[in-house]
Amino acid sequence: MTGAAGFIGSHLAQTLLAAGHEVVGIDCFTDYYDLSLKEANARGIDVLRLDLAEDHLDFDGFDGIFHLAAQPGVRSFGDVFPNYLRRNLHASQRLFEAAARDGVRVVSASSSSIYGAAESYPTPETAVPAPLSPYGISKLAVEHLAAAYERSFGLDIVTLRYFTVFGPRQRPDMAFTRIAFALADGGSFDLYGDGTQTRSFTYVSDVVEATIAAMERGSRTYNVGGALEASMREAIAAFERLAGRQLDLREHPAVPGDQRRTSADTTRIRSELGWEPRVSLEEGLEAQWEWAAARRSP
Ligand code: NAD
Repeated sequence: MTGAAGFIGSHLAQTLLAAGHEVVGIDCFTDYYDLSLKEANARGIDVLRLDLAEDHLDFDGFDGIFHLAAQPGVRSFGDVFPNYLRRNLHASQRLFEAAARDGVRVVSASSSSIYGAAESYPTPETAVPAPLSPYGISKLAVEHLAAAYERSFGLDIVTLRYFTVFGPRQRPDMAFTRIAFALADGGSFDLYGDGTQTRSFTYVSDVVEATIAAMERGSRTYNVGGALEASMREAIAAFERLAGRQLDLREHPAVPGDQRRTSADTTRIRSELGWEPRVSLEEGLEAQWEWAAARRSP
């Protein structure tokens, strides 16, 4: 599993280990966010410190590769762009090369960001992609690379387009973690955009289940999205109810690359893989809130 020290990868690794699988993680511990969080995520997981963009990759003998390593975050214009090229495109190209050579199936994490200003909502997999951020563009390019390796070298590939994933250990740059810690620690929260922007928020254990189902019986590209679309303002209000206090909100204009709306059409994954989201937004927010509140106390 690549990206095993990350937010979603560490949850996936723990679920697989608990089910009795043998898991070998790969992660180069990028400095995109606090390394101590990644060290904590990786506790109990056998993680090799390899950089997919440059180290030798040998997948001989593995049953499958979960490819979750990436440079995430839609704030991807400007100087950080080379990170997106290296950690998404170059890293994935080298992984697909080795996986095709070693004949190992890959489940690759893509993103709702590839849809950008989508042509329809809820958005099905067949919608024409129109990414708004360099991040979304890099993830779409990874999808195209995978398809090229499939056509030319028989790569066995399944791609999952995750829609805003949340839950305990969510990355510190993501909104829910910032909201939860602002409420727990009494800090402020910087809201970008007017707060009416909506997302198909997806709880991390549902994402883990979809990812395992894709490895077991997937064959193409699937949306992985929560049952309900909610706005940032609705999510903030739900967190405030859980915390019993009001968030100190600092409002800013929307940032370039941000989508107004994401909404997953999950018809395909429901019918082909029998997956559907099971954790409601309220239940998931409660779990994330409890995690944040507990981390704050010594
Ligand atoms: P994360 O940053 O917590 O985890 C990614 C991990 O990949 C990090 O630990 C990082 O050190 C590692 N990594 C990056 N480049 C690497 C390289 N070259 N070699 C080895 N390791 C490398 O991110 P996450 O939120 O857990 O996201 C996991 C995957 O899901 C990513 O592919 C991301 O694009 C995708 N995704 C996430 C979300 C979300 O809401 N979190 C939504 C859509 C898609």
